[in-house]
Amino acid sequence: MAKYCGPVCRLCRREGEKLFLKGDRCYTNKCAIERREGAPGQHGKGRQGHSDFKAQLREKQKVKRIFGMLERSFRLVYERATKSKGVTGTELLLSLERRIDNVTYRLGFAASRRLARQMVSHGLVLVNGKPMTIPSAMLKAGDIVEVREKNKQNAGVAASMAAAESRVIPEWLSLDKAGVKGTVNALPTRPQMLQGVNEQLIVELYSR
Ligand code: SF4
Repeated sequence: MAKYCGPVCRLCRREGEKLFLKGDRCYTNKCAIERREGAPGQHGKGRQGHSDFKAQLREKQKVKRIFGMLERSFRLVYERATKSKGVTGTELLLSLERRIDNVTYRLGFAASRRLARQMVSHGLVLVNGKPMTIPSAMLKAGDIVEVREKNKQNAGVAASMAAAESRVIPEWLSLDKAGVKGTVNALPTRPQMLQGVNEQLIVELYSR
């Protein structure tokens, strides 16, 4: 499974906004965006100008990076979204939100999606009582996600849950803090999904 192994703060600097890729550090003044570090690279600050293509590309890169995906798998999710009956952009976001690594992060069991992905692939997360080691597996309404019994007292999980108290658990999920367990109440609607994103730009980019 290929993954990006470079410095993640660089990705936020490229997009010019916080993508919350590094867990707790993102909420401190050590964050590169808080420190107002500009775009990376020798010519980072010089890359100005605007075009439709640039706006579409940046939006796609932003969403891809938020969910920690590489182009090939992101494109695959998009292709599947085009075949569904719903609005392509919304279906794309829905497929991303339903991923088990994203739900693990949203419930606060991990400080970042990257860590959530690691937890899932190491078998620390159970879905309906059974281990699920594929981070991209999609959940459905009624699924129960929990941390494996022997890892429920793990200091890292406890710290993530404590830190996540400042984050709002989306309405489509419910959390049993004591049981380190969450339920997918229903699939999210567009207003309950990732905010600050114009998914239509991504559709326009891939439709070129
Ligand atoms: Fe992005 Fe977090 Fe790094 Fe800030 S600390 S630049 S939000 S990854």
